[in-house]
Amino acid sequence: MKFQDLGLDPQLVKAVEEIGYEEPTDIQATTIPLIRAGRDVFGQSSTGSGKTAAFGLPILERIQHKGRIQVLVLVPTRELCEQVAQEFVKFSKYKSVKILAVYGGVGIGQQIKNLKDTDVVIGTPGRILDHINRRTLDLQNIKFLVLDEADKMFDMGFVRDIRKIIQYVPKARQTLLFSATISSDIIHLAKNYMVNPEKVKAEEYVQTGKLKQIYHNVTVGDKFSLLVHLLAQEKPTVAVVFCATRKRVNSVEKNLKKYTSVLAIHGGLTQSKRNSIMDLVKSGEVNVLVATDVAARGIDIKTVTHVFNYDVPKTSKDYVHRIGRTARAGETGKAITLLCPEDHENFRHVLADSDIDVAEQQDFQRLQFEVIRTDRQRFNHRRFSNNRGSARHSNNRRWR
Ligand code: ADP
Ligand code: MG
Repeated sequence: MKFQDLGLDPQLVKAVEEIGYEEPTDIQATTIPLIRAGRDVFGQSSTGSGKTAAFGLPILERIQHKGRIQVLVLVPTRELCEQVAQEFVKFSKYKSVKILAVYGGVGIGQQIKNLKDTDVVIGTPGRILDHINRRTLDLQNIKFLVLDEADKMFDMGFVRDIRKIIQYVPKARQTLLFSATISSDIIHLAKNYMVNPEKVKAEEYVQTGKLKQIYHNVTVGDKFSLLVHLLAQEKPTVAVVFCATRKRVNSVEKNLKKYTSVLAIHGGLTQSKRNSIMDLVKSGEVNVLVATDVAARGIDIKTVTHVFNYDVPKTSKDYVHRIGRTARAGETGKAITLLCPEDHENFRHVLADSDIDVAEQQDFQRLQFEVIRTDRQRFNHRRFSNNRGSARHSNNRRWR
């Protein structure tokens, strides 16, 4: 199927074809006709399945430039806010509508000015609520309300803000909710704020054939050495290395500096710092990005070839979000988890839900890991020597 078969406005079809989309993804093919028909839609599909265009295209088709806010898209993070706004700008290349990203951590003055003449607002809940309280955001003309990445917004504790914001949006609107995973909270929200929503669950687009998932059994003391070994072996274009906490992110980044071009990204950084990091990664100057779950949410860098779980994710949901950073839009990718004996219990659930194989045993050089404060207790100094090490694992045993 082609985009034009969906009956979309030729101006939009032309724009998406220029971006390089050849065919609609599953979620796009299913939801676009429903949204065009005026339905409230509750869409579930994995990260990287093309949800932005699934709601962006049919919405943009229905609005004209009026300098009044007709669309409000709520997203969980600033990065995602920029990203969705940029996609909307691309989709509307041949249509004159104004799109504005509204998030916190940056000056509010310019936003207030821009809000007076815009058609689409993509915003994070906190800053949107801030504008509502200042009466600098007029929601009276909203025709479309989108809750994007609803599961993440819940995880990040935005649900109360969202409920408050919805009170200010006219009832006569179309409400669209998109999420990679579904919880009872989300179903509850949908029941409360959507009218007879059509539920759509699309086939996964992160094709497992293109995403290879493996894990290495390794001791805590050997994790860093194995990571360096694997980075050298895999030669990723861009790798995202996930750690459990900010401190761990900083420690791992600091130590990796000796071996590769690396930067850290976590919630403690200013927005401009984060933006410049993302630019360096996109331009290819930096190959490894060490990140926390929250900071990495919504990162859409097409060149991410590898995701490393340096620390195992807490839940299957987190795992799915992490691996969604690679194999974007049908590209190939590899998700590599470093699994310590103490993680087995936690990771058993993830393994049960995913298709992950144990990796071949590796021979690698043991390296020094310089410990930063609170990480100290997690590493045993006596282990560091120049012996050859090996990742311990039981042969081809799958943890299920
Ligand atoms: P999601 O919101 O489901 O995580 P996105 O909307 O961010 O996914 O899309 C993921 C990536 O796939 C983006 O880089 C986007 O430009 C690309 N993409 C979306 N739809 C298509 C398509 N039909 N063909 C090719 N690439 C697409
Ligand atoms: Mg998305």
